[in-house]
Amino acid sequence: PIYTPAPARYDSGMKYRRCGRSGILLPEISLGLWHNFGDVNPLSDSMAMLHYAFDHGITHFDLANNYGPSYGSAEETFGIVMEKSFAPYRDELFISTKAGYDMWPGPYGNWGSRKYLMASLDQSLRRMKLDYVDLYYSHRFDPETPLEETLQALVDIVRQGKALYVGISRWPAEAARKAYSYLAERDVRCLIYQGRYNMLDRADEAGGIISEAADNGVGYIAFSPLAQGLLTDRYLNGIPEDSRIALGGHLKSNSLTPGLLESVRKLNGLAAERGQSLAEMALAWILRDRKVTSVIVGASSTSQLQRNLSALESPAFSDDELQIIDSTNP
Ligand code: NDP
Repeated sequence: PIYTPAPARYDSGMKYRRCGRSGILLPEISLGLWHNFGDVNPLSDSMAMLHYAFDHGITHFDLANNYGPSYGSAEETFGIVMEKSFAPYRDELFISTKAGYDMWPGPYGNWGSRKYLMASLDQSLRRMKLDYVDLYYSHRFDPETPLEETLQALVDIVRQGKALYVGISRWPAEAARKAYSYLAERDVRCLIYQGRYNMLDRADEAGGIISEAADNGVGYIAFSPLAQGLLTDRYLNGIPEDSRIALGGHLKSNSLTPGLLESVRKLNGLAAERGQSLAEMALAWILRDRKVTSVIVGASSTSQLQRNLSALESPAFSDDELQIIDSTNP
């Protein structure tokens, strides 16, 4: 075999949290394949990161139909690794994918219809070389489709055995509430809510998304915990050539406003006083809230991933530190 996982993978410091009121434990740090796993990226780098992750207790990998670029190619990359490396360990992995954004041309390759969700999952399973996913998400709320249609598609997907659990991502609070009860009434409880949450974006906290998930026994998983790299030392001295901004990813250079850079410098200083990197502090700050099940980090190298895992050894936050972070919010 080209890959033998580290025998000590569950003794390397990873911690696991229960996802809402469910039987599932997720690693506090999960890995997302939005960027850096497409067909534009060297396969050897993507493979190395996936191996490194699993070797260090990361059991949860987060995908979506259109991650790449090109669309579908992150799932294809994962499928190659599944076939070559992970197949014997399928039952140690918790794999999610989603549909909700633009995927294929025409009226059936986007948003929230039953037609789209069903067809897209079949495509995802083929690309990832899987019989089922552990978790299937509605990637966004579709205001034009009755939410019962989207949710019933999720219920039926579970009944068909193509997903073990379902979740919703970026649904507004009111629709999320309806989703939790619609699904619970059909005995397919919503496992998890996926939303953006980091030191620079606290909308899900302020809007009650995180606490309502907890009240309903639903887990919460934070995406873009490092604000796509802004909450690291990456941009403190300009825009590195190999960064997401320079490579034309979803992060644009106009997000680097003077005000934001000032906040990031201040947070970086606080992290240094705590004896850690800004990235470590940013992840630990999200995980300070026990209502959060996990953070989904992105990484462009194994060394970034390695450094992010040190967040698990982070010291607790004092009230003063939390206050400084609150007041640094731009
Ligand atoms: P992050 O906020 O973790 O940003 C990841 C980027 O930050 C990396 O690509 C890298 O940038 C930089 N970085 C990471 N670690 C370090 C480090 N230690 N030091 C310096 N820079 C670092 O997450 P993403 O925005 O990538 O999102 C993570 C995952 O969340 C996605 O893969 C996806 O699974 C999910 N997601 C879900 C969404 C949804 O709608 N449900 C939307 C967005 C994301 P660089 O490439 O420049 O090196």
